Amino acid sequence: MKESGLYIHIPFCDHKCVYCDFYSITKFDEMDRYAAALEIEMKHYAALFSNSHYFTSVFFGGGTPSLMPPRLIEGIINSLHKFFNISADAEITLETNPGTVNFETLKSFKSSGINRISIGIQSFDDEDLKFLTRVHNSKEAITTVRQAAEIFTNINIDLIFNLPNQTKEKWLLNLEQAINLPVSHISAYSLILERGTILNKLVKEKKVTISDEDYDAQLYGLTIDFLTSRGFNHYEVSNFTKVGHECRHNNHYWRYNNYLGFGTSAHSFMNNERWNNFRSLRLYMESVAEDSTAVASRESISAESSHDEYVMLALRSKGLDLNEYETMFANKIIINSAKLIEDLIAKKYLYKEKGLLKLTGKGYCICDEILVKILFP
Ligand code: SF4
Repeated sequence: MKESGLYIHIPFCDHKCVYCDFYSITKFDEMDRYAAALEIEMKHYAALFSNSHYFTSVFFGGGTPSLMPPRLIEGIINSLHKFFNISADAEITLETNPGTVNFETLKSFKSSGINRISIGIQSFDDEDLKFLTRVHNSKEAITTVRQAAEIFTNINIDLIFNLPNQTKEKWLLNLEQAINLPVSHISAYSLILERGTILNKLVKEKKVTISDEDYDAQLYGLTIDFLTSRGFNHYEVSNFTKVGHECRHNNHYWRYNNYLGFGTSAHSFMNNERWNNFRSLRLYMESVAEDSTAVASRESISAESSHDEYVMLALRSKGLDLNEYETMFANKIIINSAKLIEDLIAKKYLYKEKGLLKLTGKGYCICDEILVKILFP
């Protein structure tokens, strides 16, 4: 039996944020029908995988999953338990946004089976939040974290850095605010200009200016120094955790484990095959009604891609297990690049610890360059 994760995409949002390229819709009248379609899709894949896989995490991502009524989330969790072998201590995460929940709804989500909350704060600065077109303000963000902490012990917050006019002092204030709240995990992402977003258009039209890569790297370096010196372990490029609170679901992605995704735009990776669902709600619903699945595209992972993905994911997270690597990929690049690796170690971009080859803080700041050097020497 393979340890794996389950992902459910909930595409509903109360509006579209300027920087977002996730699939989301602002009409809520299809929520019940959507939950019913998810159940059909789950049943289909359960027949294929429930004898070979057990699941230690469930992740409701979006969109804004906390806009779904708790009764529908509970129904989905019950169906997952009915169809799949889910471990008794599975981590079950719900993404939520301040302004979409209150103490009572958070309590209902806990009763429905959720045991980890991930809150899309993005910034504690009202100007930043206005720029990002978020619906909440900083006061509501703090209230939501405090309310969640009365109910959950496992809380992540998402933050974004390198926003326009964000000085280093302003970003450090954000981090200070974050660590003073009862959170066990922080995801800190650099603002990415995704194609097709309103923000991308504004930058192209020179109506908004974003600082360059050097400044971005400086803010990232500050983030690593600040959080690691305050008791947070840096365990993936953008993720920091207190002891015992690593996100089990994301670890499935980073450790190259299998995962099954349901719903619009959801991705799956099972037995060296990867597929993704239709993004549009209409196409998803029509396809599930027709044959219980909604696959838009599918690919088999070649041995070469599998090697590169494994190295990339491992180095970006817990480190490359050299023994495991040698067993899985004898005579491959890392083994043949001993000199390059030693050179990167001497320059303090990499280090070895307990059989793992890991990035240093300095290495994380140029992580992509290092991966290119190693994978395409
Ligand atoms: S709330 Fe999240 S998923 Fe929805 S539009 Fe904003 S950034 Fe995108």
